[in-house]
Amino acid sequence: MKIKNHFSPNFNNQKRSIKSIKIIVIHYTGMQSERESLIRLCDPKFSVSCHYLISRNGTIYRLVKENKIAWHAGKSSWGNFKNLNKNSIGIELVNKGHDFGYTNFTKKQLASLIKITKKIIRKYKIKNRNIVGHSDIAPLRKIDPGEKFPWKELASGKIGIWHSYSSNFLKKFRKIKIKKKEKKLKFIKNLNKIGYCTSSKNKHIFYKITKAFQRHYRQELINGIIDEECLLISQNLSKNLQKRS
Ligand SMILES: [Zn+2]
Repeated sequence: MKIKNHFSPNFNNQKRSIKSIKIIVIHYTGMQSERESLIRLCDPKFSVSCHYLISRNGTIYRLVKENKIAWHAGKSSWGNFKNLNKNSIGIELVNKGHDFGYTNFTKKQLASLIKITKKIIRKYKIKNRNIVGHSDIAPLRKIDPGEKFPWKELASGKIGIWHSYSSNFLKKFRKIKIKKKEKKLKFIKNLNKIGYCTSSKNKHIFYKITKAFQRHYRQELINGIIDEECLLISQNLSKNLQKRS
């Protein structure tokens, strides 16, 4: 695997221990071009960076060394982890994003992502449940890598988690809105078990967390409304996680 060095000064200078690295966060750049992304992620004025950036043609750039804390996650939460920069490796995929023309990720880009992710998983023994998108860990602020990111495909190669239902089975439960309070509470509990921060009781906040969940696990319909399909998926994911731990 060829990696090009492209130094960014946007990281904390102290080294971190191998043990502190527990999570992989996937992003899209959300900018007009690869060139613009590389410039911004390396510009001290913007205070943002990542460890790796993967271009549309599959080239991998190393911006920050893995043993340094890159600035990619911001205010964030996953499971027992808070403000994830210190505990994570950040990978940016070049994509214009929702503001400038969101497109499918390219085959070459995903092939490179799979290679580097597998290497990182092995090196730091990262759990599948801790391979997440920026929107999963910061659902109020972020929507990347977005609903075109192929989480299901990656999970079939043991990168991240996925449910064990067929899409044909699930389809029947889509848009059947959940009204009962116990069922809603069950859904919230499941999301919490998966890793989402669900401490807020604010309805608007919960709408955004539901959207983040859908963007990852039910990409066909992202409306922030809890339906039977969402409940089933959340139930299945949290049960499978329990079995494993
Ligand atoms: Zn991001």
